[in-house]
Amino acid sequence: MGYPDHMAIVTPQTLRQDFPLLVRHPELVYLNSAATSQKPEAVIEAVSRYYRELNASVHRGAYTLSAQASEAYEQARRTLARFIGAEEREIIFVRNTTEALNLVAYAWGLRNLRPGDEILLTEMEHHANLVPWHLVCERTGAKIKAIPLGDDGRLQLEHLGTLLTERVRLVSVMHVSNVLGTVNPVAQIAQAARAVGALVVVDGAQSAPHMPVDVRALGADFYAFSGHKMLGPTGIGVLWGRYEVLETLAPFLGGGSMIREVYLDRSTYAQPPQRFEAGTPAVAEAIGLAAAVEYLERLGMANVWQHELELAAYALKRLDEELPEVRTFGPRGPDRSGVIPFVLGGIHAHDVATALDQYGIAVRAGHHCAQPLHRKLGVAATVRASFYVYTTKEDVDRFIEALKRVRDFFK
Ligand code: PLP
Repeated sequence: MGYPDHMAIVTPQTLRQDFPLLVRHPELVYLNSAATSQKPEAVIEAVSRYYRELNASVHRGAYTLSAQASEAYEQARRTLARFIGAEEREIIFVRNTTEALNLVAYAWGLRNLRPGDEILLTEMEHHANLVPWHLVCERTGAKIKAIPLGDDGRLQLEHLGTLLTERVRLVSVMHVSNVLGTVNPVAQIAQAARAVGALVVVDGAQSAPHMPVDVRALGADFYAFSGHKMLGPTGIGVLWGRYEVLETLAPFLGGGSMIREVYLDRSTYAQPPQRFEAGTPAVAEAIGLAAAVEYLERLGMANVWQHELELAAYALKRLDEELPEVRTFGPRGPDRSGVIPFVLGGIHAHDVATALDQYGIAVRAGHHCAQPLHRKLGVAATVRASFYVYTTKEDVDRFIEALKRVRDFFK
């Protein structure tokens, strides 16, 4: 399978050279980017440069260095806003997708949900988009419903009309499945949800790193994602919120930086996004994430997506043709990202992953924080190979050849 010319920049070994860990481990085939990505030199350097040249308390000091650090942090916010088509004041820096979703659950859900209200999720959600809602339902008496998943790995949207009653106050869906790779038609779901007056939350953990995203075109109210899955540092993520909605929310965490005035017995709060950034923020990490975004923008997100589509199609074709013992899950087509979940005969997923490791292939095995989905699929665990910008066709070839050896070993 050939790559179009424009992919020459993002495909083979040349790109791998930007990633010190991959250079250090030339034999490693890293196929676990859906869990966390590797980091390019540009990101490592941006974080290290911050500590060497700029480190200071942001938004507080009267001195020049503090002003420069604050400006670098706010510049990172602008970069993230540009990346997803948002306004700067709509970008809230959080630790990760999990924290972003909890922020919405606590700041909006706890205050607005009542007994009888409903939250609509899907059967394929990650625990990060399930458990915060469980916690909020326990305290408010609201109930959870889910859009069912079809055998083809896609949501059964024909049920949307029945599920979306006036009782549904909030719809929260993943944009791209971390297990199946399914790209959900979020804009369509959002439109239907808004027609009944429900807020729309999108878990973008697996879309922001991999495809062009325009939050306004999605039609959502909130969009959450993690830096570490998109070439950035750990400990930094983003919650985007439509400003009119953010303005109505009470704080989630209280403390320094998020206030207007504080008395001994009460306080008033700053405008968003500061209202939701209590305490000293992860400044170096935000700057590192902005460097990751700039790196991705240089590659072009459309190219990144195309690259993954092609790798996924290539891997699935070879698996189908050469390994009949392998059962893969997820849709076939352009609505599928570079994530391949599978089981190999009756062999336990962990045994397959451990055996692949002997050949230098790093994959993940387990329920991938999606137990309800695995129950639905009727398997306890799957092995998951996931691709990213630095994944090459040769990586896929080595993965398939190793999988054949693993199959033969367990025969
Ligand atoms: N949502 C999805 C779809 C994910 O894949 C993940 C990470 O695996 C998360 C949420 C949680 O991300 P984090 O652990 O960075 O908060």
